[in-house]
Amino acid sequence: MNVQKLMAELEKKHPGEREYLQAVHEVLESIEEVYNQHPEFESAKIIERLVEPDRIFTFKVPWVDDEGNVHVNLAYRVQFNNAIGPYKGGLRFHPSVNLSILKFLGFEQIFKNALTTLPMGGGKGGSDFDPKGKSDAEVMRFCQGFMTELWRHIGPETDVPAGDIGVGGREIGFLFGMYRKLARENTGVLTGKGLTFGGSLIRPEATGFGATYFAKEMLATKGTDFKGKRVAVSGFGNVAWGACLKVTELGGKVVTISGPDGYIYDEAGISGEKIEYLLTLRASNQDIVAPYEKKFPGSKFIAGKKPWEVKVDVAMPCATQNELGKEDAELLVKNGTMCVAEGANMPCTPEAISVFHKAKILFAPGKAVNAGGVATSGLEMSQNSMKLSWTTEEVDARLHQIMKSIHAACVQYGKNKDGYVDYVKGANIAGFMKVAKAMLEQGVI
Ligand code: NAP
Repeated sequence: MNVQKLMAELEKKHPGEREYLQAVHEVLESIEEVYNQHPEFESAKIIERLVEPDRIFTFKVPWVDDEGNVHVNLAYRVQFNNAIGPYKGGLRFHPSVNLSILKFLGFEQIFKNALTTLPMGGGKGGSDFDPKGKSDAEVMRFCQGFMTELWRHIGPETDVPAGDIGVGGREIGFLFGMYRKLARENTGVLTGKGLTFGGSLIRPEATGFGATYFAKEMLATKGTDFKGKRVAVSGFGNVAWGACLKVTELGGKVVTISGPDGYIYDEAGISGEKIEYLLTLRASNQDIVAPYEKKFPGSKFIAGKKPWEVKVDVAMPCATQNELGKEDAELLVKNGTMCVAEGANMPCTPEAISVFHKAKILFAPGKAVNAGGVATSGLEMSQNSMKLSWTTEEVDARLHQIMKSIHAACVQYGKNKDGYVDYVKGANIAGFMKVAKAMLEQGVI
């Protein structure tokens, strides 16, 4: 494989798809050495087949707001690779959604899902619809319009979407309702469902819980744990919330959360009733930062800045892609941060990652760290297939075990000669090998 040549060809075919090209480049770079030891991969053109999605559906979603105005949004489903199981990956509703972002997320999902040890392929979808500020009725009408088109292309054994940014329990409920009506079946076609219609216990918290379990394994490689550690978390969405809960439970202190306009610094720690309060604000679609600062004196809102300037032991970026750049990484290293675990997908830029690698601090990518979300979705699929529900303890124990095994796979494939674990390389190689072998054994299709 010649990475430069492959990238030049992809750039020519998909000009301007920045996030997608960035994600492919990162994977190709880290698997190059292993790939070149397998001439059978090269002759089967595994890479050329892997970097292009199997297919992409693009459709419009017309819907009517509460005042009777008509809106039209663009929507997509990227079915990337199903060599090891049905396409699986979330739906994102956010104004920034475009094909490049969904292709990057779908591509990453292939390897992440392979790492979970469960039989799931990679996919992603979404729309540039913004649920923020919309009424429940408007969100419902949009979701119904979205599913009116998507339902033909998905199914419990074909493609199983889930939530992502802007798609939580409410949206999944509306989407599921419409699917059920159109397909005339009641199956586990979506994950992240409500507990009364096939959802799994722990699924809402799973990504943040899993990310924290993974970071715990990373810390253990240095003979330490979360007890007494100061932790910076960004965002306060689904992933950040679970991370705040689990870090606190394991004895760490979360001192920041953030939004697009700045971050909250709370030296006393963001835990217990504070998390409950934040959840209430989020559920009622209210701004989080201003009320928090007022309600909890001693906390501060730092406008226009990111949490990476705070002195912490562990950083967990849990908001969005490319939210932590080179200068942020340099600040973290300067302040003595020992571990950076990506809760979000690709939150650290390539330049930031190389700062962490140069400083030889612990750094692990989203596709390994946040795989607990999709892993628990996989557990939801298993429960749906068996038509039964596991207890909280059962799901949590399986999640914990899966995160440990993902960590072990990263160490197995990513340990350098000097003992430093390159988790990016480890995660990419471990995920890639599984999918590449499956593709090879199934022939050219
Ligand atoms: P979410 O519930 O929508 O939360 C996103 C959070 O990030 C919100 O608090 C949002 O603030 C904040 N945010 C958005 N843009 C930001 C920016 N530029 N700077 C700082 N904060 C920003 O989404 P989520 O489900 O937690 O997903 C977060 C990340 O994790 C995404 O990369 C997603 O792909 C990834 N992920 C999610 C799951 C899952 O199970 N949900 C699984 C694996 C990976 P506002 O609400 O104020 O905009």
